Amino acid sequence: MSECIFCRIVAGELPADVVYSDDEILAFKDINPAAPVHILIIPKRHISSLGSVKSDDIPLLGRIMHRISQIAKDRCPLNEYRVITNIGKSCGQTVDHLHFHLLGGRKFD
Ligand code: AMP
Ligand code: ZN
Repeated sequence: MSECIFCRIVAGELPADVVYSDDEILAFKDINPAAPVHILIIPKRHISSLGSVKSDDIPLLGRIMHRISQIAKDRCPLNEYRVITNIGKSCGQTVDHLHFHLLGGRKFD
């Protein structure tokens, strides 16, 4: 069994409120939302963070960005939103599996 909680969600070992899934990407609601829309978009394959992507990952990253854009079109008022990824503990990364936060539905300064 993986120790990575997001790999465990991908494997179906932990529950998640899934909003999108295909063979390589999963999107689910953040358990502790910081905005009315707070969705995490992850590759199903374990990649630790944006800091460890390789050139082979470029097509996958492009598809993740496109998927974020599609999810946001459906869920974020005015198609306005924020996308964040944290890299490393000192910058707020608490789960060591690459994820993009899609935040929307409120004003950000
Ligand atoms: P980060 O701090 O950038 O690593 O973001 C990790 C995010 O994962 C946080 O916003 C957490 O609320 C969220 N999170 C942690 N565990 C779960 C879970 N089991 N289901 C959904 N979101 C989670
Ligand atoms: Zn993982």
